[in-house]
Amino acid sequence: MSNTMELFGDIQVLPRGRYLQLVVKVTLLDDAIIRSNEPEEVLTFNYKSLGNRFIIPWRKIKGKLRRLVMEKQRDLGIPNNSNCYLKDHLCMTCPACLLFGGTGETSATKADYNLLSRVLGETFISRTEVKDISAYTANAVDEETLTTGQALMTILKVPTETEFSGVVTLRDPTPELTSILIDNLNRLTRLGASTREWGKVKTEIVGYVLSDRETLSSYDLVKSEKKDDLCKIADLNLPTVEDSFKKVAELIPHILPKKKQEKGKRGSKAKEETTEAGEESAEG
Ligand SMILES: [Zn+2]
Repeated sequence: MSNTMELFGDIQVLPRGRYLQLVVKVTLLDDAIIRSNEPEEVLTFNYKSLGNRFIIPWRKIKGKLRRLVMEKQRDLGIPNNSNCYLKDHLCMTCPACLLFGGTGETSATKADYNLLSRVLGETFISRTEVKDISAYTANAVDEETLTTGQALMTILKVPTETEFSGVVTLRDPTPELTSILIDNLNRLTRLGASTREWGKVKTEIVGYVLSDRETLSSYDLVKSEKKDDLCKIADLNLPTVEDSFKKVAELIPHILPKKKQEKGKRGSKAKEETTEAGEESAEG
């Protein structure tokens, strides 16, 4: 399949309704341990038509991905005049902030604007059903003393070679933003807040679809197994990731709202649309 639609040649703040959807496959290269008795960590889900599946919540992948983008841009000396780090020290002016969004109020620069995330994701779902879960209980570690006490927790193991399918969507894609996203997805080799929970993974981008709407979902991918109508990433002829970071960093000052301007005019709408930049903090 070929797309008649093209990537945007420039970056603008307001959404323009083009969605680049990347089909992503994550394969576990190690057994992954998940803790099942914390509500935050429920990592199996019983679907009506898919049965019981392992799942990776999007916030886990997004948090890791943002960190990868930030470390790569630091290596390239971006942003050059400030530091940008999670969670309350976002600079609101770098490629990572542009891609993953941020809340001005809690940013390092107290910017009077918010940025919506351009990277949209969803739950990754295992391609096969959960069969025999090897659950066992272990002594929970006391966080303060790091000793094990009486409390028990249940541990689940996700077997090596479990494959997950997911879709990562880039809103209003340009060649540079696409290059940055793809390069860092390919650098995603570990998942989870700590290696205790998840371990080594292989991340592959199977193909993409560019559309005026989000046509793909993890659920459909897992259900139908069809892959034939995807376009090849190589056909996008993307610029290198280094050039992309530099070009985006140069462009950003020209497209972001100017500071201390129109203050008060930005109504409650912008506040409502506040991004979830804070959510990654839970991963750290
Ligand atoms: Zn930043």
